[in-house]
Amino acid sequence: DDRISRIASTIRVIPDFPKPGILFQDITTLLLDPKAFKDTIDLFVERYKDKNINVIAGIEARGFIFGPPIALAIGAKFVPMRKPKKLPGEVISEEYSLEYGTDVMEMHVGAVQPGENAVIVDDLVATGGTLNAAIRLLGRLGVTVVECACVIELKELKGREKLGDNPLFVLVSET
Ligand code: IMP
Repeated sequence: DDRISRIASTIRVIPDFPKPGILFQDITTLLLDPKAFKDTIDLFVERYKDKNINVIAGIEARGFIFGPPIALAIGAKFVPMRKPKKLPGEVISEEYSLEYGTDVMEMHVGAVQPGENAVIVDDLVATGGTLNAAIRLLGRLGVTVVECACVIELKELKGREKLGDNPLFVLVSET
């Protein structure tokens, strides 16, 4: 698919952000190219339309950019998976480990129903810890995670292995 190479070419790599030694994949330059942005959304929509997906779960913050247009196009609801203490209603929380320390992800308990089918959306998978926390949260609420969908995968960090049997679909693999 020649849309993929165009999308890949719009992603900017910034060295030493947010700290020395990190090569940061910046998707804001993809958003500046309307064709690349539309192709990105279209590729996910083509994959998930007519698959009985009820829920697009978007991970803060860049899952909030890619998730909603996918949800609208396939007729699913959009559910934000947020950093702690951002959501006003009753939340369910999941702790997960980072390179140094831990973080917490939260979602509203009434946002999903047992038996619903979800796709989790984020910009990038690195170690897989973030997606894994989202999978656990939705699982505790009886939701089936059909797939995780990211624009970019950092292959060397083997995030895919952390997701167990849960499928991961990505557009661009960085080695
Ligand atoms: P993981 O939990 O190690 O897989 O890290 C993935 C999370 O960190 C995602 O929410 C990403 O948005 C963010 N992240 C990690 N590295 C990058 C990067 O290079 N660019 C953009 N986001 C990143």
